[in-house]
Amino acid sequence: MTKDLVAIIGGGPVGMGLALNLAALGTRSVLINTQPRPRWHPKGSTQNSRTMEHYRRLGIVDKIRGLGLPLDLKTDVVYYTSLNGWELARLPMPSERQKLEARRAAPATDQVVEPIFRCNQMHAEAALFDHVRTSGLIDTRYGWECVAWSEQADGVTVEIEEVETGRRETIRAAFVAGCDGGHGCVRRQLGIEYQGEAPTITPYQGGPMVSSYLRAPDLHAVAGDRCWQYWVVNHKVRSNIVAVDGKTEFLFNTRLERPDQTPDQAMIAEAFRASVGRDIDVEFISHGTWTAGQAFVAERFGAGRAWMAGDAVHLFTPAGGFGMNTGVDDAANLGWKLAGMVQGWGGPRLLESYEIERRPIAFRNTGAAKALSRNIGQTPVGPEIDHDSQGGMQARREAEAYLSGGSAEFSSLGVQLGARYNSSPVIVSDGSPPADDLVNYRPSSTPGGRAPHLWIGDGRDIGGSIFDRFGKGFTVLRLGPRPPAVDGLMAAFAARGVPVSAVDVPSSLARDLYERDIAVIRPDQHVAWRGNQQPHDARSVVARMVGDD
Ligand SMILES: Cc1cc2nc3c(=O)[nH]c(=O)nc-3n(C[C@H](O)[C@H](O)[C@H](O)COP(=O)(O)OP(=O)(O)OC[C@H]3O[C@@H](n4cnc5c(N)ncnc54)[C@H](O)[C@@H]3O)c2cc1C
Repeated sequence: MTKDLVAIIGGGPVGMGLALNLAALGTRSVLINTQPRPRWHPKGSTQNSRTMEHYRRLGIVDKIRGLGLPLDLKTDVVYYTSLNGWELARLPMPSERQKLEARRAAPATDQVVEPIFRCNQMHAEAALFDHVRTSGLIDTRYGWECVAWSEQADGVTVEIEEVETGRRETIRAAFVAGCDGGHGCVRRQLGIEYQGEAPTITPYQGGPMVSSYLRAPDLHAVAGDRCWQYWVVNHKVRSNIVAVDGKTEFLFNTRLERPDQTPDQAMIAEAFRASVGRDIDVEFISHGTWTAGQAFVAERFGAGRAWMAGDAVHLFTPAGGFGMNTGVDDAANLGWKLAGMVQGWGGPRLLESYEIERRPIAFRNTGAAKALSRNIGQTPVGPEIDHDSQGGMQARREAEAYLSGGSAEFSSLGVQLGARYNSSPVIVSDGSPPADDLVNYRPSSTPGGRAPHLWIGDGRDIGGSIFDRFGKGFTVLRLGPRPPAVDGLMAAFAARGVPVSAVDVPSSLARDLYERDIAVIRPDQHVAWRGNQQPHDARSVVARMVGDD
């Protein structure tokens, strides 16, 4: 048995994120993925602020920000009757350059360390793949499928098969992590079902969908505006067109009539034509089917030596762009806990705390996505919506009134940054946490939430954020000009073998923001404990934070 190894099944964004979180703490993993390389079909278009913070912590945020749309492309979302028809509503949003400029001018206590980033998942996955391959702690087995796995008292056995040759290998590891998507073998073998809401069938974002990757060099010109997302509602079609490269490539999403319907290119071309409003040159690259309107969460997130993250434990409808992002946040939570178990400092309740912390977040975020997805499917489409008439104007006004209320879908900072683990057994709670708010994020050092953010100094580049000062393991923050001693706390971490660093932030602003002189920050940047003096029972506080009974 390889006692220091985690076997990760599934090398999508969540599996790669988990491997990187383990490697950050010096833990080895083997990353097994059926396909020989990351997918080359667009899916999610949003790397949200929390995901980008994780990428910053893992040292890859600049690489990811180099991908995606041209820096000056507006990320507006515009609703039309057809691209060459009437504009119904517009949600104006800044370009990537404007977001970075706003960050540069933001006050020191601004909470957006990393602005939301519009970049297709396939581009981010390719960059992550290049990165994981360079890590000496990650054995990448792309083109290998897990065909069986089993758990023993002292570890797990994973059987893998090379897809191209049929060659088999047996891997012995300490834990198995199922990041193997919605139909994964880890969840099925554990006998865990999804619970939740099946899709409500609506004219759009409710039921079977087809996403088509296409090239249409004239599309931006027909729309008369170069934007990030175009939505279309008319009598024939409700669809969504997302810019993939900001030039000629797009993702076109439209509804299928039946779940068993094979995407038929002629039908998709007709829907595309009805969305554009006239014939334009189009080259279809690939099609994929998916289901919109669902909100499923697994009954359990794991057991024993097998734990899961990402789509393996929650299935979203894409509205809000929360699916992959919630999975990336799962990986940040599960990563340090698995590392703690492998390295011997994790207690018996540490892995159980993963489910206690993340499952409620899965319900919260799937629920938010489902609520937002009702928007376009329920837009009123009066019979004259595209007529140049009084009735047409009235129909368009009604649609506009409905659609212009859709901004929460694209500005949900509370969903992105506001996950809290108030009732967790590994959080030392000490007060009333702020109320959950899906739209706004309010920083609080009350244990359980993301550490409040502060820019230290004038710069906004790497090194300028308080988060950049945190260690890879736990961080004991000493805040304000006269911080108390933390020697007992540090000694308690050291006695347990937990990776920890002490960081002094002498500014009064930091002390005011945290409202305490000391805060203990976990490897995933959540506050675990705070106080004005180190705890007199430091050993038991540390034991609690790492999962002892
Ligand atoms: C149209 C669309 C738009 C979306 N938009 C967004 C968005 O804007 N933002 C967002 O956050 N999310 C979005 N999502 C959701 C997002 O794509 C998924 O949540 C995300 O891909 C989940 O990542 P994952 O790593 O958990 O699983 P997956 O991406 O499904 O990866 C799982 C991997 O495991 C591999 N695997 C499975 N079984 C085995 C096995 N036995 N052995 C080896 N490998 C195996 C699979 O081949 C696959 O590569 C969207 C989804 C769709 C369909």
